[in-house]
Amino acid sequence: MGDDRRAVVVGAGIAGLSCAVRLQERGWSVRVLTDGPVEASTSHLAAAVWFPTRAGPRDKVLDWGRRTYDTLAAQARAGVPGVVMRESLALHRTEPGPQWWADAVGEIRPARPDELPPGYPYGLRFAVPLVEMPVYLPWLAAEAQRRGITLEHKHIASLAAAGEGADLVVNCAGLGARTLVGDLSVTPVRGQIVRVTNPGLTLSVRDEDHPGGRAYVHPRVHDCILGGTLDEGAWDTNPDPAVGAAIVRRCLDIAPALRGAEVLEHVAGLRPARPEVRLEAEPATAGRPRVIHDYGHGGSGITLSWGCADDVAALAGQA
Ligand SMILES: Cc1cc2nc3c(=O)[nH]c(=O)nc-3n(C[C@H](O)[C@H](O)[C@H](O)COP(=O)(O)OP(=O)(O)OC[C@H]3O[C@@H](n4cnc5c(N)ncnc54)[C@H](O)[C@@H]3O)c2cc1C
Repeated sequence: MGDDRRAVVVGAGIAGLSCAVRLQERGWSVRVLTDGPVEASTSHLAAAVWFPTRAGPRDKVLDWGRRTYDTLAAQARAGVPGVVMRESLALHRTEPGPQWWADAVGEIRPARPDELPPGYPYGLRFAVPLVEMPVYLPWLAAEAQRRGITLEHKHIASLAAAGEGADLVVNCAGLGARTLVGDLSVTPVRGQIVRVTNPGLTLSVRDEDHPGGRAYVHPRVHDCILGGTLDEGAWDTNPDPAVGAAIVRRCLDIAPALRGAEVLEHVAGLRPARPEVRLEAEPATAGRPRVIHDYGHGGSGITLSWGCADDVAALAGQA
């Protein structure tokens, strides 16, 4: 075990950095190659709460999600920068049945009438990790470097080129997998969000079935993230002010205390969606580094990160 096993990870979003750390913990010497700074990744702009959105298959999402929940909850307890546990309220218009992701979350209880905003008959209360990505992702990159993992800025045209001299290549390129490995089943699901001042909110609120579109409010330390859209196949990363204004209106329905909050920024990003997350090892080829893929997490990249990274590290160990 040790520095004789060399891994190259392509991508420095949440998938790449979590895989790099898990591989390093298992004795691999790790290089991360990325064609953009950590701050330019989709991961950096994510909301980002634990909640499975636009990712499959459901059984694996539940398993990865459960393990990621536990890891992030432990990081929150340990005081890792940017990670907190957030009380959450999911609003419903009809009585909610069992939630398929409930096993990952622990205690879920019906909201009391006095906990619901006007017009909402039902809600569920539970706690989930909320990750302030502009704090957490740079911390994770620095933590990786502290452990001896190198971060190099480089565009990778092929996994074979990236893996020269290595024993293992891990593909965590997100949407970049379309060109890197020609996987056209990875498609953008555009998300537009609004960053506003936080008037003192501490409860995360969501309404997945708001007639105007999805609505969520995630309070961070100094601001709140209001969302949002799920625009299948849309590539435009320019935020649309009219869409932003509609997001603010919907969010006022679910969190009336936001009234008067100042809009700080409109943001749009591209979720790397795929019918199913691709987490698998390619069959071994003599004389070539082993290849493992970990991309296509859609709207759940943070929610699934550490569970997926554990599986990547386990697959790497079998290689
Ligand atoms: C508005 C919005 C809100 C979201 N909210 C949440 C949320 O609340 N919870 C949640 O779990 N998820 C959320 N997501 C989804 C989450 O952001 C993504 O699933 C996650 O960021 C994907 O991470 P990744 O590391 O796979 O990809 P990315 O963060 O896109 O990173 C890909 C990396 O690969 C590099 N790369 C790509 N191609 C190449 C190449 N050829 N050569 C070198 N480097 C390359 C890039 O530079 C980048 O570093 C949200 C997304 C959006 C847009």
